[in-house]
Amino acid sequence: MNRKYRKTIVAGNWKMHKTPAETKAFAERLKSSLPRVKRCSIVLCVPYVDIPAAVKLLKDSRVAVGAQNLHWAPNGAYTGEVSAEMLADLDVKYVIIGHSERRTLFGESDLIVNKKMHAALAAGLRPILCVGEDWDQRQLGVTLELIAYQLKAALAGVSPEDMRRVVIAYEPIWAIGTGNTATPEQAGEVCSAIRGMLRKLYGARIARSTTIQYGGSVNAANIEDLLDQEDVDGGLVGTASLDIAHFIEIIRSANQDGY
Ligand code: PEP
Repeated sequence: MNRKYRKTIVAGNWKMHKTPAETKAFAERLKSSLPRVKRCSIVLCVPYVDIPAAVKLLKDSRVAVGAQNLHWAPNGAYTGEVSAEMLADLDVKYVIIGHSERRTLFGESDLIVNKKMHAALAAGLRPILCVGEDWDQRQLGVTLELIAYQLKAALAGVSPEDMRRVVIAYEPIWAIGTGNTATPEQAGEVCSAIRGMLRKLYGARIARSTTIQYGGSVNAANIEDLLDQEDVDGGLVGTASLDIAHFIEIIRSANQDGY
């Protein structure tokens, strides 16, 4: 990370875990035991039904609430879907877009990811855009080409001004939920390549100030080494964000001085 130029962001992604009652208990504990975070921003991306409880309990704390998905249309005949405006109205600040589980389990194409990016930005939300390769793609040596394609497609038509609100999360699919974290060098190499791609798309200034997280089996034991990499500016944390003590430990590490 390089705090001189960009924000360090630790974001939890609960996926489909925790009821509103469990969210309330977690948020109360998080608020009361959160260290004084001055050096990083904290986001908690919860299921839709947990948003009101999380927003209410974390109001006036240093934790912003995020969603894990949205629909690209402002409204309409899309049974079961939720729009960006609806999220913004609930005081949601961030939204995960293009997570590999959405891409693979729910058939989200690059075009859909791009539409969702525009919808989120138009509603004033900060998208956390996920990109990453699977194991076969890594073995074939096409990781960087694939990520360049995913980035270019997701960001098509996104203005430099809006780009200032975009967070990128490099999430190698083979590392998500598997316990096989990428090594700090692997994470650093791809995050630095992503910054290079952003430089080509948006110029040096925007590239330098964009937060690029790493996600994939991040935990309290590996976060420090990952953040030691110049271009890794935070973590998108799945499993380890479900446990309050573990999540706080990760925040504590990311909030340390001396990077
Ligand atoms: C994720 O869901 O984005 C993720 C990185 O999960 P995990 O930390 O469990 O690998």
